[in-house]
Amino acid sequence: MGGFGSATRAAAAGGVTTIVDMPLNSVPATVNVAALEYKRLFAQQNAFVDVGFWGGAIPGNKEDLRPLHDDGVFGFKCFLLHSGVDEFPHLEADEMEEALAEVKTFDSLLIVHAEDSRTIDKAPQPNGDVYEHFLKSRPRGAENIAIAEVIERTRWTEARSHVLHLSSSDALPMIASAKRDGLDITVETCPHYLTLLSEEIPNGATAFKCCPPVREVSNREKLWEGLLDGTIDFIVSDHSPSTLDLKNLGNGDFGVAWGGVSSLQLGLSLIWTEARRRGVGLDKVLQWMSTRPAERVGLRSKGRLSLGYDADMAVFAQDESFVVDAKSLNHKNPITPYQARCSPVRSARPLWAARKSTTRSPRVGCSTAARCDSHSVGAGSGL
Ligand SMILES: [Zn+2]
Repeated sequence: MGGFGSATRAAAAGGVTTIVDMPLNSVPATVNVAALEYKRLFAQQNAFVDVGFWGGAIPGNKEDLRPLHDDGVFGFKCFLLHSGVDEFPHLEADEMEEALAEVKTFDSLLIVHAEDSRTIDKAPQPNGDVYEHFLKSRPRGAENIAIAEVIERTRWTEARSHVLHLSSSDALPMIASAKRDGLDITVETCPHYLTLLSEEIPNGATAFKCCPPVREVSNREKLWEGLLDGTIDFIVSDHSPSTLDLKNLGNGDFGVAWGGVSSLQLGLSLIWTEARRRGVGLDKVLQWMSTRPAERVGLRSKGRLSLGYDADMAVFAQDESFVVDAKSLNHKNPITPYQARCSPVRSARPLWAARKSTTRSPRVGCSTAARCDSHSVGAGSGL
């Protein structure tokens, strides 16, 4: 739990003034009010930026969702395949539909880790240190099927849903179609899917392992197109830290290494660098990384500088550059796939980010929103 201190310090250094904490991988899982209160207590004592919480929707906790909402969670995360930790079991599609129907009764949001369990089970096993093998173990089809389920169940229940950390660009046309139909569904992607390429990931480089995985260059280009045409609504960190030993750096086996990319302090720099290379302005980046996530999460005093909004500010040197050194970051564990990445991160350096945390309940919020999360393999230290 001491992780709230290091994570929120990293957030502040990266220009992130609010995080919303994922409900798993920091024990206890946030699946009932007692767990929420416990985590809130630690956050209040240790956080350097504002902290909010997602609740978790797991089999058997439907009765806990409304009380969690009343106590201030911003919505509920569920998985459609094994989450990687036993205390956070996944929902089958029918159970997800029940959760959607339940959260609709109090107008909350269901956020979904959309990879299909059966598709992953049938895929090749990800053993060994070759990234290509790992990629084949998490095929686009797993995301595509799961996202189709989210879309149709959202249609049937008329609830509000959100697709987490999109990697498969194949899913963009059906997401666009769902939006044209008027469904209340949103989609995010993450800095790693927008900056990294599977073709460039060295064998054994498990710092790059996350689920869903970083895919090919053609996929990355389509994700950028999806952002620019509005099919993808925003970008969040999906920060998923782990200890060095859980990343299994010793033998580089993608099958057993922790799945998750640690980048909370770097997201704004990475996206600004890549956006500028593509001729995309900072105003767009701020929409994607601040305004829109704040709106969707329901952070009513965050996401813009305006009368009645919190004065959360980050000073940002848009023409400066720096070389990433994991050891100098504020992250608790010195591991990141961006280690020694110099030219790609050439343009930006957030210098300072706003005020000390409050973590008041029930609604605390952001200027630049990010999310802390982790999933897959292993029981982690989480935040
Ligand atoms: Zn996830």
